[in-house]
Amino acid sequence: MKSAARMKSMVTVNRKRIFLCILLCLSLTYFFYVKSLICFPKVPTATPWGAPIVWEGAYDSEEENRLHQKQRTVVGLSVFAINQYLESYLADFLVSANIYFMPNLSCVFYILTDRPDDVPDIELRPGVSKVILQVPKRGRWQDISMLRMRDLLELVLPRAVEKVDYLFCMDVDQIFTSNYGPEALGELVAQLHSGYYLSNKEDFTYERDPRSAAYIPPGKGQFYYHAAVFGGTPSRLFNLTSSCLKGILRDKEHNIEAVWHDESHLNRYFALEKLPQKVLSPEYCWDNRLWLKFHKLVWAKKLYSKLRV
Ligand code: UDP
Ligand code: MN
Repeated sequence: MKSAARMKSMVTVNRKRIFLCILLCLSLTYFFYVKSLICFPKVPTATPWGAPIVWEGAYDSEEENRLHQKQRTVVGLSVFAINQYLESYLADFLVSANIYFMPNLSCVFYILTDRPDDVPDIELRPGVSKVILQVPKRGRWQDISMLRMRDLLELVLPRAVEKVDYLFCMDVDQIFTSNYGPEALGELVAQLHSGYYLSNKEDFTYERDPRSAAYIPPGKGQFYYHAAVFGGTPSRLFNLTSSCLKGILRDKEHNIEAVWHDESHLNRYFALEKLPQKVLSPEYCWDNRLWLKFHKLVWAKKLYSKLRV
């Protein structure tokens, strides 16, 4: 009797164990399934108009380097560091760009600042030079951000057109984390915003006020682009910056400010005026607060309460 009762309790224990094992397996499968959807969701590799969307693994890095080294491609990188943004971000940006930005090509770094004497003196790799340009002091952070379009048009592009084949324009509050190579080069390059690449189009934060020059009507626009990175050939960027600046100045005349400033005007340009010919995946400008993911450039910590006074 005793052993029969023991057997029965052993069977119950075993059943419990098997049940727990199955439960654990199911939870793990579900966890990894959900994680894979978040970390590796199905993403497009081309736009509806046929432009490539560049993801890691979808290009041949050696071939790209060979091609551009043969053509002796020179790449410009412009960055603004005004007021406190200089101390807070510029050194990390430059040190990391010196390592990872187009590491096999000649580059010119255009640094725009209100205090040229305070630009950190970072030793650059052979083939990389820097040009420091002084910009006027501007009060509001919104104007500092928006009027970059004027400085790019009037200060950077007239110089860059002589020196570089392609130019990237970037925010300073970011850090390169792995090779950002010639696969990113193109005639007109736009950056998918890491906060919106999985969103529905209706949720894009385009400017929706028809009085603004940055207005995008409902139904228009395929992607939400991030103004922290855009690029192209100097001639294409002349058109882009002059069109965005015109819109920004027109809004100022009408006492209007687009919801996301220069980014709203940039989105209007790409949505309604000129489609980008290459689109960079969010790996090229990743928000570090999102799930851990492979990236080439990440946002630095935002310090708005300190910097936006
Ligand atoms: N910026 C600057 N000083 C300022 C405000 C802005 O140098 O006081 C430049 C800097 O390059 C910065 C960019 O303008 O990265 C855009 O501003 P921010 O990065 O604050 O915009 P967000 O990333 O929040 O859109
Ligand atoms: Mn920024």
